[in-house]
Amino acid sequence: MALSPSTKKEIKLQAISLINKYSLVIPIDVYALAEKLNIYIQERNDVIGEGFTIPIFALAKFAKISIIIIEKDVIKTRKRFTIAHEIYHSLEHKNISFFSSDKAKAEREANIFATELLMPANQIKNSVYSPEAKNISELAYIFNVSKQAMQIRIKELNLDDNI
Ligand SMILES: [Zn+2]
Repeated sequence: MALSPSTKKEIKLQAISLINKYSLVIPIDVYALAEKLNIYIQERNDVIGEGFTIPIFALAKFAKISIIIIEKDVIKTRKRFTIAHEIYHSLEHKNISFFSSDKAKAEREANIFATELLMPANQIKNSVYSPEAKNISELAYIFNVSKQAMQIRIKELNLDDNI
């Protein structure tokens, strides 16, 4: 099932409000944000997949601390996206089981959050419309994301004619 526009909007607002609350600047420091949210990041070589989140304490729902475990040997931009994605899981999906049917929905939600956090629509528009012309590579560098992620984001925001 697709996410409703209002759910998407809410998730995006959540990313923006964290950016504002912690005065984060571009490129967003996902490590600093995690720290402020009591989320610890552990990088390991034995991770199956790209990463996952473990809430601490038996009653996961009430956990105040989470650990994000991510694969160490992936490129930095991919790691940043995974951390942003896992941050959303640790904020909102503490009690969703890995095998639950809500899992796919939770994955889409976490991706929307990560995209908005790392490439906020307004900042992207400001960069694209700034006096100096920018191409995808420069934008990717500024936001510290992969070129591919930036390409998708530019398309999604209907800005491809301006690049
Ligand atoms: Zn996920």
